[in-house]
Amino acid sequence: MLDTPTALRYPPLMNVARKILVIEDERDILDLASHYFEKEGFRVRTAVDGAAGLAAARKDHPDVIVLDLMLPGMDGLEVCKKLRADSATALTPVIMLTAKAEETDKIVGLELGADDYLTKPFSPKELVARVKALLRRTERREQEPQQYVYGTLRLDSARHELRVADKEVELTAKEFGLLEQLLKNPGRVLTRDVLLNAVWGYDYHGTTRTVDVHVRRLKQKVPALEHNILSVKSLGYKLREREGH
Ligand code: CA
Repeated sequence: MLDTPTALRYPPLMNVARKILVIEDERDILDLASHYFEKEGFRVRTAVDGAAGLAAARKDHPDVIVLDLMLPGMDGLEVCKKLRADSATALTPVIMLTAKAEETDKIVGLELGADDYLTKPFSPKELVARVKALLRRTERREQEPQQYVYGTLRLDSARHELRVADKEVELTAKEFGLLEQLLKNPGRVLTRDVLLNAVWGYDYHGTTRTVDVHVRRLKQKVPALEHNILSVKSLGYKLREREGH
């Protein structure tokens, strides 16, 4: 049995120009990276500090962000946290550029951190390869796989059906939507705002408390989730990447 949520069917990736945002204050690296990404067919936006990077991310909705750790003013980790906390950018994949290998523990270990990192100096080819790999991973996730398997859980989106150890469990539409979002993003913190927007919609005017109430009901109906949906500080929730007890 599989422990991690697994997409069982993938539609083929579409061949459209991806938008990439590169946030880096070192001009040489910025120009070199931009040149290589353009050559690979990306539409490139750049920013030379964290505040400009955040503004560009909110405005342009890039498909992926390359973010330097050492930036003047607001550093890369701070930028990353702000990206994760904003529902417009919370799920945008981020690859972090770091100067020293020892910083990487902190970056990948951080709950609100980057999806991947690359240590300087790196070759532009490697950066492009990493970004493409990251896009493949996240686009698979976004293209609405029909089924997710997590331990003894099996969720079928198209049939709107949840089975636990092969027995059907009745969920309300909102409970089902919440579980679907968590299964789609294992190991990632989803803020209450992100969940509200994804499940209830942008025009819903309820409070974020609504999310807590529904997560509690979901756990009551599916005891296997009790220890696997984690509450993260005051932010929101995340599903353990691997099922535990
Ligand atoms: Ca820098």
